[in-house]
Amino acid sequence: MESKRIVNFNPGPAALPLPVLEEIRADLPDYKGAGLSVLEMSHRSQQFEAILNEAIARTRRLLKLDERFHVIFVQGGASLQFSMIPMNFLADGRSADYVDTGTWSTHAIKEARVLQKPIRVVASSEESRYTRIPQPIAFSPDAVYAHITSNNTIRGTQWQSFPDARGVPLVADMSSDIMSRPFDAAPFGLIYAGAQKNIGPAGVTLVIVRADLLERVPENLPTMLKYTTYTAKNSLYNTPPCFAIYTLQLVLKWIEEAVGGLERIDALNREKAGLVYRRIDASGGFYRGTAEPGSRSLMNVTFRLPTEELEKRFIEEAARSGLAGLKGHRSVGGCRASLYNAVPLEGVDALAQFMQEFARRNG
Ligand SMILES: *Cc1c(COP(=O)(O)O)cnc(C)c1O
Repeated sequence: MESKRIVNFNPGPAALPLPVLEEIRADLPDYKGAGLSVLEMSHRSQQFEAILNEAIARTRRLLKLDERFHVIFVQGGASLQFSMIPMNFLADGRSADYVDTGTWSTHAIKEARVLQKPIRVVASSEESRYTRIPQPIAFSPDAVYAHITSNNTIRGTQWQSFPDARGVPLVADMSSDIMSRPFDAAPFGLIYAGAQKNIGPAGVTLVIVRADLLERVPENLPTMLKYTTYTAKNSLYNTPPCFAIYTLQLVLKWIEEAVGGLERIDALNREKAGLVYRRIDASGGFYRGTAEPGSRSLMNVTFRLPTEELEKRFIEEAARSGLAGLKGHRSVGGCRASLYNAVPLEGVDALAQFMQEFARRNG
């Protein structure tokens, strides 16, 4: 199995750490002597509750969350959070601020407007075709929350540091960079991340929500759309996505115990992204990074080649060399290397070498 594995640069669902896949395989038919697999066991069993609580404990330790934060697991993807956040926090007619950094943040804005919430877009990088993070930003002092997208998966931009909303809780879509670097959680009211980029498989969304915001949740929402349903029942009101939570737990264990925590993974991620960006910058214009240098993402490196024909050839030849998933999102074209936590340094090094070789042959 190992010998045939590709270097997986897919944007999501994305690479998982090989030791995690091997542990799943070893545990699969008979989970730790339980006589059945995690796929088959009751979500109310002791074994599954232990898995769930371990996933929560690891999230708390890795992000250094204090007791005000609840950690819950929700279905419906990051996309359902675009709706749940305004439904839960803006029921009383008050407003929230949104920063538009393209695609996913634009979707979050759209969903708040579908619900007819009076939100304000306080900054946007649309005029620069979303090639940068807009700064500085004047947030509204009376906003209930300020929504940002920490890493823009499709545009290849990332907040290098988080904005100061002067006491207004930040709400962040961290789907594509959660657990990739340490940060101070204190200014955040809610953090959400679809697991399938950096921390697990598709089917579960990690939501971290601060207790004071839960006081805003109205009674008259459908049960499954209320954060309080999940916080009151430890995400076990109904059947959660058990196997996805189990896999996420193993990925967090890998980050904590094999990699050595978020400082360490941040250093590795910087090294990986540096290999590709240096190759782009040293190519004499053959490769062009699409994000402005001050806003470049460490997770998704987006770049163009001189022609679309060359881009097509680059993606195909790379795939034939075992470097897969380098096509840019269909909405923007070009190339994209997604360098999430589980993509190994050696694989990124192989990509950098392939890029140099390809430029030499075609430049
Ligand atoms: C992939 C992605 C989404 C969409 O996630 P789903 O889980 O498919 O709904 C939202 N936001 C960001 C930043 C993403 O990268």
